[in-house]
Amino acid sequence: MTTKAYGAHAADQPIVAIGIERRAPGPRDVQIEIAYCGICHSDLHTVRSEWAGTRYPCVPGHEIVGQVSAVGAEVSGFKVGDTVGVGCMVGSCQHCAACDEGLEQYCEKGFIGTYNGPTADAPGHTLGGYSQRIVVDEGFVLRIRHAQDQLPAVAPLLCAGITTYSPLRHWNVGPGSKVGIVGIGGLGHMGVKLAHAMGAHVVAFTTSENKRQDARDLGADEVVVSRNPAEMKAHAGSFDFILNTVAASHSLDAFTSLLKRDGTLVLVGVPEHPHPTPNIGNLIFKRRAIAGSLIGGIAETQEMLDFCAEKGIVSDIEMVRADAIDAAYERMLKGDVKYRFVIDCATI
Ligand code: NAP
Ligand code: ZN
Repeated sequence: MTTKAYGAHAADQPIVAIGIERRAPGPRDVQIEIAYCGICHSDLHTVRSEWAGTRYPCVPGHEIVGQVSAVGAEVSGFKVGDTVGVGCMVGSCQHCAACDEGLEQYCEKGFIGTYNGPTADAPGHTLGGYSQRIVVDEGFVLRIRHAQDQLPAVAPLLCAGITTYSPLRHWNVGPGSKVGIVGIGGLGHMGVKLAHAMGAHVVAFTTSENKRQDARDLGADEVVVSRNPAEMKAHAGSFDFILNTVAASHSLDAFTSLLKRDGTLVLVGVPEHPHPTPNIGNLIFKRRAIAGSLIGGIAETQEMLDFCAEKGIVSDIEMVRADAIDAAYERMLKGDVKYRFVIDCATI
């Protein structure tokens, strides 16, 4: 079915209206009319080919919420009219050790991304949520239990929410943990809200002086402006866990120094240019670790959505029209967003 979308024809081209084709729903497919789609920094990295390997035309978007408009004959979990979400993945092999454990994001054959992933559908790669409609295997569709008026602010949970929830859970953050969240953007502001809801003592690290009060309002117990060495030093050797969401290359040593013995710094930001090699002595002498984490599996994404619905957690958003996506990208690059742009897909 012909569907209106927004995307780019090349790395140096603007985001413009384009027509795409969506497949007719197969037996296991759910067809979704997209209401809102969040703008993730990964969309910008991809559409501008900062990670290499972008296929064009590129239609980004993997923070999708909408309503089911058709289901295939074998679909049992969803019906027309249901409010649903789609995150970063639309497929995986379903047979490897990772998929068997519900960790589709670590599929040994490679998960199929919601955009820029391999598919038999034209044009040979997947096209994401900056569009009116999408067709997805029911195994990758999430149920949304929040109230309808919260839907725009629910969309960012599908990537920013799960990408911060999953490592907080994996490293057992909870009451008694001292947790740092670095970079108070789309991911980071969700990290602050979620770590706070899990009962941790939360310290927000920001480079932006003007986010000091905001970070407290999001749920941080303390806020550190990371450009200020004296403020950083006051927390030396005190953290169980630090989640770093920064989208740009920077020295990690300032953060590994803040970990306790056996503490872990988890990286989720994927900058265009690599971070400088970390100081190894900083790790060895206190058995500290640096680790990475990738989004979250489908079961855990549903768990996160239900946790957020129960606790009343949503993203702080600014809604934008589809014809203003490039302007939103420029503001995101300057850290000028509180805290996630969401496209009103009715404007597509
Ligand atoms: P974002 O909204 O742009 O937030 C990033 C934040 O990092 C900024 O708001 C800023 O916060 C801080 N920052 C930016 N440039 C900086 C610099 N030069 N030095 C220090 N801090 C800087 O981006 P996002 O959507 O949250 O995404 C963050 C990163 O995570 C991106 O690289 C994205 O691709 C990646 N990502 C990874 C996964 C995964 O599964 N691992 C999933 C989604 C996204 P302050 O103003 O507070 O300093
Ligand atoms: Zn994302």
